[in-house]
This record gives sequence, C-alpha cells and structure tokens, in this order.
Amino acid sequence: MMAFLFAFVAIVLWDCAAGKECTNNHAQSHALRYQLLTSMNETWSIMSHYDLKPKDDNHVWADLLPRKLLKEEEQHDSDMMFRKIRKLKPPQPQGFLKQVSLHDVRLHEGSIHAQAQHTNLEYLLMLDVDRLLWSFRKTAGLPTPGTPYGGWEDPKMELRGHFVGHYLSASALMWASTHNDTLKKKMSALVADLSVCQEKIGTGYLSAFPSEFFDRFEATKYVWAPYYTIHKILDGLLDQHSIAGNPQALKIVTWMVDYFYNRVHNVITKFSVSRHYQSLNEETGGMNDFLYKLYSITGDQRHLLLAHLFDKPCFLGLLAVKANDIADFHANTHIPVVVGSQVRYEVTGDPLYKEIGTFFMDLVNSSHTYATGGTSVNEFWGDPKRMADALKSTENQESCTTYNMLKVSRHLFTWTKKESYADYYERALTNGILSIQRGTEPGVMIYMLPQGRGVSKAKTSFGWGTKFDSFWCCYGTGIESFSKLGDSIYFEEEGENPTLYIIQYISSSFNWKSGQIILNQTVVPAASWDPFLRVSFTFSPTKNTGTSSTLNFRLPTWTYKDGAKGLLNNETLSLPTPGNFLSITRKWNAGDKLSLQLPITLRTEAIKDDRSKYASIQAILYGPYLLAGHTTGDWDIKGAPNASVANWITPIPATYNSRLFYFSQDSTKSTSCLTKLNQSLAMKKLPEPGTDLALHATFRVIQVKSSGKFTTLTDAIGKSVMFEPFGHAGMRVIHQGIQHPLTIVGTSSSGSSSVFVVVPGFDGRNETISLESKSHNGCFVHSGLHSGGGVKLICKTGSDAIFNQEASFIAKRGISKYNPISFMAKGINRNFLLEPLFAFRDESYSVYFNIKG
Ligand SMILES: [Zn+2]
Repeated sequence: MMAFLFAFVAIVLWDCAAGKECTNNHAQSHALRYQLLTSMNETWSIMSHYDLKPKDDNHVWADLLPRKLLKEEEQHDSDMMFRKIRKLKPPQPQGFLKQVSLHDVRLHEGSIHAQAQHTNLEYLLMLDVDRLLWSFRKTAGLPTPGTPYGGWEDPKMELRGHFVGHYLSASALMWASTHNDTLKKKMSALVADLSVCQEKIGTGYLSAFPSEFFDRFEATKYVWAPYYTIHKILDGLLDQHSIAGNPQALKIVTWMVDYFYNRVHNVITKFSVSRHYQSLNEETGGMNDFLYKLYSITGDQRHLLLAHLFDKPCFLGLLAVKANDIADFHANTHIPVVVGSQVRYEVTGDPLYKEIGTFFMDLVNSSHTYATGGTSVNEFWGDPKRMADALKSTENQESCTTYNMLKVSRHLFTWTKKESYADYYERALTNGILSIQRGTEPGVMIYMLPQGRGVSKAKTSFGWGTKFDSFWCCYGTGIESFSKLGDSIYFEEEGENPTLYIIQYISSSFNWKSGQIILNQTVVPAASWDPFLRVSFTFSPTKNTGTSSTLNFRLPTWTYKDGAKGLLNNETLSLPTPGNFLSITRKWNAGDKLSLQLPITLRTEAIKDDRSKYASIQAILYGPYLLAGHTTGDWDIKGAPNASVANWITPIPATYNSRLFYFSQDSTKSTSCLTKLNQSLAMKKLPEPGTDLALHATFRVIQVKSSGKFTTLTDAIGKSVMFEPFGHAGMRVIHQGIQHPLTIVGTSSSGSSSVFVVVPGFDGRNETISLESKSHNGCFVHSGLHSGGGVKLICKTGSDAIFNQEASFIAKRGISKYNPISFMAKGINRNFLLEPLFAFRDESYSVYFNIKG
C-alpha cells in the first residue's frame, strides 16, 4: 500500500517536473531531486528502477548537430576526434573587450551593492573549512573533524560538494574584491586540504561522493548530476588559480581532468560517443565552459577535446538552426552549456558559436523573461511569449538562472559593445540578484523569486534558506554573485590608445593601470523625489608622464535626452541619444571632474505574452528598478488612456519617513502594538521588520495644521493629527462613535472622525501619549488589551487604572520605512505603495499590475 502510494506520488511529481528530452531521458528539477532524496526509500527505489531505455530518436537530434560536430559525432572513436582536433589551428577572434581585474575595483561604502557584498563577506567568513571538507575527507578515507553541513551538503545528498566548489569561486572573487586576509587563509586552507584528499585517493579523482556515482552516470542509471558538482569544484579551483594566484589549485585541476578524460575516453571506446552523449541528459553544469577556459590556460589539446565532448550538441544544435524551441527544457541545465559555447567561440573563433549565443539571448529575452530580467518557471522554460501563465506559480525565476544569464549577456557585450546587453545586465543584476538576500542577514537567500500576484519571497516551496542547512544550487551561485559586484562595471579595450567602457553606475574606484589613472565614480543613490541619476567621476593620475585615454560612458536606454546633462570641468558636453556611449578622449588630470545627470523615467512594460487578453498585465519600472507593489492580491489600476504614467504614480516625499510611528503597549509577557487588520484595528504582538505585520503596525502621522514640527509624538502633545496606515496612501483611521471599533476608510469619507488630539498619557508616564477624538471630547483610542473587546473609542470616566493603561501608548519610529525609491500608484479599489523589488523581505507584493486603460 505504501509502495503504491509512493509510486503514485513519484509519478505525479515526475509528470510535474519532467521536461523536454534533449536526447532520451527525462530532465528533472532540483526541487524534485531533493524531495525524492528526503522521502522514504520506496520512492527512491521506484526512481532507480525507472525504465530509462533509450528511444530510437538518435536521428532526430543528429540532424540538429552543429555542422562541425556532426562529422565528429559519426566517428564513434575519440582517438580519431583527437587527431582531427589537433590539426585545427583555431583563429583567435580579436577586438573583444576585456573585463578588468577585480583586484583593481573597490566598491564604495554606502551603496546597496557594497552592503550586499559586505553581507556576503560575513557569510563566507562564517563558514567553517572542516565542515565544508567533511564529505571530501570521508570519501578519501581521512579523519573527519567537525560535523558536516546540512541541506544539499548533507552526507546523504548526492549533490554534496557542489557548494564547496562555489565557495572556492566565491572566496577567490571576494578576496580579489576586498583583500580580506582572514578569507584568504580560509580559502588557502581549503585548497591545501582538498589536495590532501586527492593525494590520498591517488587516482586524480576528487569529490565529496564516491566515484561509483560516475559508474551510474555512464550507465545512464539514476544519479543526481555528479558532473554538475565536479564542474563547480573544477571551476572553483580554476578561480583559485586564475583569480587568487594559487598554483596548487591548478595542479589539482589538471590531475582531476586527466581522471575524467580517461573516464570519458573509456565510455567512448567501450561503447560509443552516442552513449557518452546519452549520459549528458543528466545535468553537467558548465563542464564545457570550464574546459574551454582550462584549454586557454594549458593549451592542452585533450582539454579542448573534452570540452567539445561536453558541448551537448542536441541542445546547441537547436540554437544553431535557430529553432524557437527551448520550451520545456530545464533552464539551469542548459544556460551554462550556452555559456560554454560562448567560450568556445572566444577560444576557437568558430563563428557558429557566436551565432548560437546571440540567438539564445534574443530568444530568452524576447520570449521568456520577466520584467526583472529573470527567466524560468518551476525551473523550466514555458512556451514562448506565454509569461502570463507563469504567474500562476510561485516558483518563478530560479536565482541560479539569473547568475548564468548574466554570464551570457556579459560575453555578448564584450564581443559587440552593444548597449542592449549592458541594459540587460543592469536590469537582471539590480532586480534579480540584489533581490535574493534577506536584507543584511548573512547566509539567508532564496531559491525562487516569485513574480505573481500577492506573492512573497518567504512563501515558495523553499522560502528563505538558512545559514548552514540549505546550500541549494542558488546558494552556490548566490555567494558567487555577491562576491563579484565590482565586476562588469568597467571593461577595457586593448589597443594603442587605452580605452575604457563604463557600463554600470555603481559607486566605486578603479585603478586603471593601462590608462595610468585611478578613477573615482560617485553615484548619488537614486530617489523617487529626485528623478535623476547623478554620477560624477574624478581622476588621480598614477604616473607623472600621463597619457591620453578614451572613456566611454553608457547612456542607458531608460533615460531621456531631454533633461540630460554632461559637464566636464564646467564645460557642457554634447550627449548622444540614450542607447549609445558618450566618448571622450583626453589626458585626464588630477583636478578633472566629469559629471552626468540623466533623467530616470517611470514607465510601464507589458508582460511577454502575445495574447491580447494579457495586454493589460504590466510591470512598472523606474529606470533600471522594477517597482513591486505592496499587495496581497489586488492588482487593478486604472491608468488614463494615453496619459503619462506620472498622472497616476506619484513619488513619496523624503519627509514622510520622519512621520512613521508604531503605537505599543506592554503587558507582563510581551509588547503589543496597534495593527491594521483588514479594515479594522487590533493589538498584535510586536512584529519582525520586513513582514506584512510590520507594515500593518506602522502608521504615517499627518498633522492637520502643518504649522510646527515634531520628531517624537510626545513633542506633538496638543496637536491634531490623522493616521494613514503604511502602504495604504489615501486611507485614514477613523472612529465610528463611542464604544465602537475603529476602522479604516478612504480620505473622502473620513471627515472629522479621523482627527485625534495628542494628549499626555493617562498612565502618568513621560514616554506615553493618549489619543483623544477631536469630534468626541473626553473619548480616547482604547486598546482593550487587558479588558478585552478590541480597539475602540471609549470615554474616560473616573480614574480607572486599567482604562488609563489601555488608553496610553508608547509611540516609536515606524517598524517599516519607505525606501528612498517609493511611489504611490492610484488603484481602482485601493492605492499601492511601490518599492524596488530588492527592498522587499517577507512582505507580500505583485511584480505586475492589471493596468486598464
Ligand atoms: Zn538554482
């Protein structure tokens, strides 16, 4: 019975998560793998015995092979392929932009990027080397001090070790970005201890799981992505070599690759290359990406051959023939393969792989992205231009896919210098990456970024992760993303005249060695009340001789020429139209200052769905910032036809934050505060910041007569005030007469019952206030906290101690605050507070609105 039940569950899950078959086997989501591994053994054995017999569709995908590989594929003999490849003398493409070294870029304190980087550094420093190494040592038969981590690094998880690979990359990147000594010691110890594990095994193999997993992989039996994990470890070690300059890491890498080269060689000679390709149905991460990079370092032809063998021609072939057919493929299995093909173009010059990368980006961007720049639903791609369907799920935009799409766009930008790729990079980084940390809590990140109506980052199948017991795929990519926020700001062009491209406006300094200057970029944080991007650059020449150089500043497509200004030492610059670069060549001197003032515009953008019934589903953006609305589900807005967005969206003034308060009372056990509950008020336990309850417990205090200022409510004694629930612009708290509950209504129907006078607290304490009704003298807001009955207007009679206590509140600064980028949008049933998606923690929101003309 139990077996039947589990069989049923397994089949249902399988159907839900099975994607399109690139060759023969089902692709599966990570979420499904996790569920299966944590479920009972019966399910596991069902999965193991699932019939994976290949179907005779080889000819189908063989037809789609990229032309160079097609012939090779027919050889079925790796030695022949090796000889053929050795003859190739790859042309090296010229003219690519070069990413500058992270060692030379420093983020300035105070920006959201620097804060995110700092939070991540704290997390990397919290992680313990012995705990990270635990399963590696176990596999090598070495003593295992400490305890293993949980989640996907648990010793029972087949994907264990993958996060350690990401940690190697992240720590190398973070060390380059900060030169934090403690981190350097940690990562060097990790590399040294991994080397000990590899030596102990003695074959070149190094992993946190036994090599038997690869026997299953090669036999196309069920196993959870062993090459996916090996890719992370190899890539991490390569980063330790290339970025952190650790020569030991490269030695480990080349020995590991020898081992895997032999394994793949054996599969092909014992069976066929088809068998090898068949095994690639299982996710292999960016093995090809890593191997092409390794080849560019070692020049070893075997590394190039092995890279080709991980190119997954059945998928790249579809892109090579420009088939609009990525629907139902598992997104994060395939994006890294495309990244690998991009490196293939860079390493070999084969233009086919340029076309593949370009087509893929166009396809994803035109048909499969959310307004955040992210992609995927339930880890897969849906049908093209059907993104409205994806909003029914909370499992949108798997975070690791954003990390990988950023790599795709970055390669394309370095080839083409096209502004559209830089725009994409900025959008996906700002909304897709900065949104996945929970505030400044180290080690708390998300897997999925929901895009639907009234969703929350805290409410997906995974929710927020924990520091030591999650370690999902997206944790691995998360720690890398936040370690390289200084990346892709500056790109260098090689040539006689030093040339730099500045594609992102992030406060930072850059020691530009070939330009012989230190460039300081200062960005005024964007705010809704000042709709300009204000950025300035100053320069410190590093050599007395000085040299002339060219700086190219990106004018993003989201700005306008009207109102844009550029100044170089008080001389007005002629700016090109947005979507182009402002290019200036000169000898930059110590006193030079260049400043740009670019209008940031509000705009709406329709969801990528070509059915007319979804034309009204639109996102609201402010420059690069996706503005999500605080709502648990209502998303209806009536925008006047053809009217400017500014007619129905207004900025929240800077002064509003100083008027936000919460009203609390203490009982013996806990602190409670006045909280909006639907249309009424209740006393609720003091909430955590970043939650819906924190929002509902915060009120904006509006002075009826604007004369006189106050910073605390005890300063406001004697003044008449009104209360607007935070996030509900245009609503007021009113009383409904004596002994009746307070309620919340629109301003038009509020009248004098919304006005209260602040008076000294009846409990006699200096820090409390009481709120007297303006229309009903002698009657006060009363919590009913001890006596029961709820929040009501009650009139004072005599000197009842309980009454005095229940009518006295401590008013403190609001638990919720407006982000500097905050707007109010006029809705049909209510107004919406809009804030950047990255500012949300657990609060409910909608990324899209139903904007009717
Ligand atoms: Zn992921």
